[in-house]
Amino acid sequence: MTDKIFWQDPYLTTLDTHLTGVDGNEVTLAATILYAFSGGQESDAGSIGGCTVQAARCEGHEIIYTLPVDHALKPGEPVRLRLDWPRRYALMRLHFAAELVLELVTRTLPGITRIGAHIAADKARIDFVWPTHLTPILAPVLAGAHALIAADHPIYSGFTDRAAGRRCWQIEGFARVDCGGTHLRRTGEIGPLALKRRNIGSGKERVEIYLAPSTGTTGQPHATL
Ligand SMILES: [Zn+2]
Repeated sequence: MTDKIFWQDPYLTTLDTHLTGVDGNEVTLAATILYAFSGGQESDAGSIGGCTVQAARCEGHEIIYTLPVDHALKPGEPVRLRLDWPRRYALMRLHFAAELVLELVTRTLPGITRIGAHIAADKARIDFVWPTHLTPILAPVLAGAHALIAADHPIYSGFTDRAAGRRCWQIEGFARVDCGGTHLRRTGEIGPLALKRRNIGSGKERVEIYLAPSTGTTGQPHATL
């Protein structure tokens, strides 16, 4: 089982660990700071022992990383992991922006159904089943999100079931939501947002979320070095 350090410290940008398995160009690690696509959040970019990670996927409690075929790493070998922090931080900010927007949309329109979500480094999207345009609710949802961001609430992240690897985030007095993604420490780190509505088929509505170029208070990453 890969020890998922990105949960206990999502601001850590380097980690010394070792390889637990090597199968061709696929490797597993004792511990990791490199997130693998899950819950709609894209995989991190980074390197393992100097080799660029090409893909990452979850298999049960393990994460399998794909490296270049000529990687030459051996099982048991100590390796240093490096995380592409600017990309991860954009993913974390858009991820939490999407969490806030989802909560506010579902409170505004009880009965709305979320059918998908995707968090990339340039934008996030949430897809819903809803019979009419979501445009009229975008302004109040954006105002609600900006109020939560301006309040700079602390965000608690922790296990709901450690053995099963289940996690949640919580903002005191606002919401507690199950999620295994990487989460910010404070809502102020998101900064200003923009929302866009798209129709993606009959009875389906998409909300796209963008970060404004100017950011809020930035979280400080740190390295083990
Ligand atoms: Zn989440």
